[in-house]
Amino acid sequence: MKAAVLREYLAPLSIEDVEAPRVKGENDVVVRVAGSGVCHTDVHVWRGEAEAVLGVRPPLILGHEPSGFIEEAGEGVPEWVKPGAPVLVCASGYCRREDKYTLAGLHQLCDEPAWPGLSETPGSYAEYLYVPHYKLLIPGEGLEDLAAASLLTDAGVTAYRAVKTASTRVEPGDSVLVVGLGGVGLFALQLARVVLNADVTGVDISSEKVEFAAKIFKPGPGDHLVNASEVGDIESELRGASRGRGFKAIIDLVGSQETMEAYLPLLAKRGIYVVVGLGSPFGPPLPALDLILGERLIAGVLWGTCTDVAELAELARRGLVDYRSIVTRRIPLEEASEAIERLDRGEVVGRQVIDFTRYPARS
Ligand SMILES: [Zn+2]
Repeated sequence: MKAAVLREYLAPLSIEDVEAPRVKGENDVVVRVAGSGVCHTDVHVWRGEAEAVLGVRPPLILGHEPSGFIEEAGEGVPEWVKPGAPVLVCASGYCRREDKYTLAGLHQLCDEPAWPGLSETPGSYAEYLYVPHYKLLIPGEGLEDLAAASLLTDAGVTAYRAVKTASTRVEPGDSVLVVGLGGVGLFALQLARVVLNADVTGVDISSEKVEFAAKIFKPGPGDHLVNASEVGDIESELRGASRGRGFKAIIDLVGSQETMEAYLPLLAKRGIYVVVGLGSPFGPPLPALDLILGERLIAGVLWGTCTDVAELAELARRGLVDYRSIVTRRIPLEEASEAIERLDRGEVVGRQVIDFTRYPARS
């Protein structure tokens, strides 16, 4: 099969013929990839920045946001896992062995993750993907654009889990702030409205991203989209957007020292600040006094569970989440390198997808 292989950091991915995966046991599956979203984490891996955190090094096949069709399955799989069936692959669920987290359905927290594209497990920048257990598959029926629906397995579910985490502190009509309007942020805006029934404000420093968010999200009377680079006093602008109350939830998809210092002061009493982005992995120091006096909570969110993906897929099937419009560029496998470099340069609005349904790999 064709695969895009990272052989050397910061060098173009090499398009190679590699051995296709085969089913080895009772419950495992091979999926013919339909779509593989291009995530900003892939940029970190490509630049060599993920090695210290994930212990991953070349050669490796990137891709951890997959959808596809069942190609081959072990004999122990249920009836619905039949060749040709459309599926989403819960890539956060790949673990080397069972532990208390996998048994609780919290695979993304398992002690020994083996995430495709983020470990030695080959990822979905390839024609076929090995799936170690059919329970990591979510039925893709009713998702009319399966290649684009790959986004639900990473960008989408990360936003969904952030919103669910925020839901412990948000009441209908409260104000919620989404920081960073890339692929995950575009899902978070929609889900904060649908799941939390909140007034939603989104903020970014790119005018293109703010304009694109307006098209996807269509702000209502209580919603605001703000370009932080065009506003003199961002704190008072955003406090106004929250009608002076502050935000009951802030979902920070940037997670940098700058964003946390800028937006934590806008967190209302009993509010929750959900950190998703890894902009400053080791800082800043926490404002303990503000946390205590306002019973404020700071929470982290890692990816999502397979159940989260299934729930989000159902929202997408019902038309409550627009995932298709977030895809702004569909590319063949051969363009994976350009896609990563565009993302690295900050030129991507929405999300790029390697779309095998539109561009079958040349063999
Ligand atoms: Zn990702």
